[in-house]
Amino acid sequence: MMPGVVLRCRSLSATNWLVVLVCMAVVLSAAVGCSRRGEEADVTGNTVFTDAEAEQTSGARSITDHATEFETALPAPEAGDLDWSIPAHYRGEVVRNRVRYFPHKLLALTFDDGPDAHITPQILDALADHGARATFFILGRRAEAHPELLQRIVTEGHALGNHSYSHPQRTTAPEAQSELDRTDALIADAAWQKPTVYRPPYGIVDGNLTWAALARGYAAVLWTISSADTRSIDADTIARNVIYTPNPGDIVLMHDGAGHQATADAVPRILRELGDAGFKFVTMPELLRAWDTWQAEQ
Ligand SMILES: [Zn+2]
Repeated sequence: MMPGVVLRCRSLSATNWLVVLVCMAVVLSAAVGCSRRGEEADVTGNTVFTDAEAEQTSGARSITDHATEFETALPAPEAGDLDWSIPAHYRGEVVRNRVRYFPHKLLALTFDDGPDAHITPQILDALADHGARATFFILGRRAEAHPELLQRIVTEGHALGNHSYSHPQRTTAPEAQSELDRTDALIADAAWQKPTVYRPPYGIVDGNLTWAALARGYAAVLWTISSADTRSIDADTIARNVIYTPNPGDIVLMHDGAGHQATADAVPRILRELGDAGFKFVTMPELLRAWDTWQAEQ
């Protein structure tokens, strides 16, 4: 090719040579320009993409930081919220003991086996009167008939926990999944989120149901104080069982299932007397977060 070009070039006049040289210079310059613009475009594109990614990452980081701050902040019992998050190290764990030496006068009242159309509203009224929050470990089979009660529990700032669908003592592995699924779905319908806490029926932690709940990342929460309200005792006795024993950070077992009128009668007194003693009543996720915050400070 080159000899042909050179031969043809030899036949050109000086003026034409000049024209050819100028044209070549223009073409070369254009080619270099294109190349540079391409590089710039590439660089710019990459830079923009990287910046966008960095912004996204930094945005995500700040959201995470915020969530972490929120998770580890001391709970504000005066303000209702729907934050059911629990610290990572409680996920998939059985909670059976209060954190030792926990100094903050927080209590988690927990109500099992509801909701009940007669008992649960009385307890909700008492909680509202005292600006207290609690946790309701519901049975799916009871909740199905009362979606409005689940809604009320959630909108009034309390937490819902999974207590299975039908309160079985033992299940097969597939039955355990179904028990949790059905109750989770009812909770999700009311609260737009899944529960993070589960209470084993009968307190049985070595069975398929609890193993399945732990595998889902729920904290399997037992209790540190029992009101003993499943026995046939009157409201005063139930109240005394709770009022005379609490330490800061305790988890109190009570029941709002059908027939637990004595519990409903005891709750206002418990809230009043322990409130006067300086206790605040928080949800189970709030208590776990408060335990976690305090432990992190030690
Ligand atoms: Zn139960």
